[in-house]
Amino acid sequence: MFTSINPATGEAGEGIKELDADGIELALGRAQTAFSAWRNSAPEQRTQLLGAIADQWEANKQHLAETAVREMGKTLASAIAEVEKCISGFRHYAEHGPSYLEPSEVQTPGGRAVARWLPMGPVLAVMPWNFPYWQVVRFLAPTIMAGNVALLKHASSVQGCAALMQQLASAAGAPDGLFQNLAIKSDKVSDIIADKRVVAVTLTGSEGAGAKVAQAAGKALKKVVLELGGSDPLIVMPSADLDEAAKTAVTARVQNAGQSCICAKRMIVHAEVYDAFLEKFSAGMKAVKIGDPMAADTGMGPLSSVQQRDTVLEQVERAKAAGAELLFGAEKIEREGAWMTPGVLVGLDPESDVAKEEIFGPVAAVYKAADIEAAIALANDVPYGLGSAVWTQDEAEIERFARDIEAGMTAVNALLASTPAAPFGGVKLSGHGRELGPWGMHEFMNLKAVMYG
Ligand code: NAP
Repeated sequence: MFTSINPATGEAGEGIKELDADGIELALGRAQTAFSAWRNSAPEQRTQLLGAIADQWEANKQHLAETAVREMGKTLASAIAEVEKCISGFRHYAEHGPSYLEPSEVQTPGGRAVARWLPMGPVLAVMPWNFPYWQVVRFLAPTIMAGNVALLKHASSVQGCAALMQQLASAAGAPDGLFQNLAIKSDKVSDIIADKRVVAVTLTGSEGAGAKVAQAAGKALKKVVLELGGSDPLIVMPSADLDEAAKTAVTARVQNAGQSCICAKRMIVHAEVYDAFLEKFSAGMKAVKIGDPMAADTGMGPLSSVQQRDTVLEQVERAKAAGAELLFGAEKIEREGAWMTPGVLVGLDPESDVAKEEIFGPVAAVYKAADIEAAIALANDVPYGLGSAVWTQDEAEIERFARDIEAGMTAVNALLASTPAAPFGGVKLSGHGRELGPWGMHEFMNLKAVMYG
């Protein structure tokens, strides 16, 4: 059984039965059958289904959001925003998907070649709990549009969210087997990747899980997309609007209780504005209202689990042991559940082990940089390369950052957030491949050249 523990209260939710070997076999068979029909579906049929799923999500917004709050502790307001983003994701592919399927033509010495996008088959998605709906939708919507079929292995703690997503797809009229939630533990994943009926796999999660899944995919010579962790820099230069930069840095660091893959985790501040930024940023971090995630005025709820909270507290202890100063916060709150306060570290040695890790909780490390060279060097001095943000009014600096920060995304004077039309993904240990837009849809398609003489 899967039992999710409400991180705000410590109470256990309803148990969800794990799928057994026969159930997995049935699901794989159903996926194969569904693909044999869905691969030939007309683009209009796919867009109609995406629209109908979006309508189901609209009608069930509150229920979806409350389920996520109970299972992983995000605030209700952010859960509603996540559901709305998912609806826009389904609608994006319903509107733009047909154009992403358009063939292109090139001249060849003997005539012409037409490059056509064809579906590949059932794709497995292994997904994390932090955005329990959006992570899945940014895979599911393009999968449906591509003519592929989807199998989901969701994180153990959000099986209620996973079950709900499958129910809504069925209620919208998805053919049997088009989207199946496999309520399985991670030890079943490798065998499913190896199964002939599964053509590819995508994983969003930690580096460790990514390596295991990539290993299984490599062994079976199947394509894999990996969306892994990050330790995003947020760089503040002297010309920046410091109030906006500090406000956005606070939002980035405490949204989802600090458990977002793309959010500023390291604030790298030019020496000229370091003190002023630190004061504003610290004031913002101290002002975050912690409380019941269901309440409308709560800024930050609990972390997703006691284990996750304790991992963050342990990283803070290691940072202190490595010479960092904890300015305030990063303290356990003594009540049932996974509670802690936001905190700020300064003086962390960039070469220490913890400085190279992702801190997946509401604790920021603030660094001082002498100039743009030092800022870029610090930004790149981690094994990750997912997102980044830069705050400056100077066009030449913006150009330098856009060119030289090793990351899949750079936000300029803005909060970095994924959006259905733009490519999303990382470099280095943050993974490879892209999601969203046409790029995400094409990852799992066969680009066939039809050569005409
Ligand atoms: P996780 O432990 O890696 O889990 C992610 C998924 O992988 C879960 O479904 C998990 O199942 C499964 N899994 C774990 N070990 C596995 C294995 N050996 N073989 C196959 N599957 C395995 O990550 P998490 O703690 O849930 O999520 C946090 C991490 O995800 C952070 O590093 C965060 O930065 C990253 N993340 C990245 C992105 C991105 O887009 N780049 C987005 C969100 C999160 P169980 O739950 O059953 O263990």
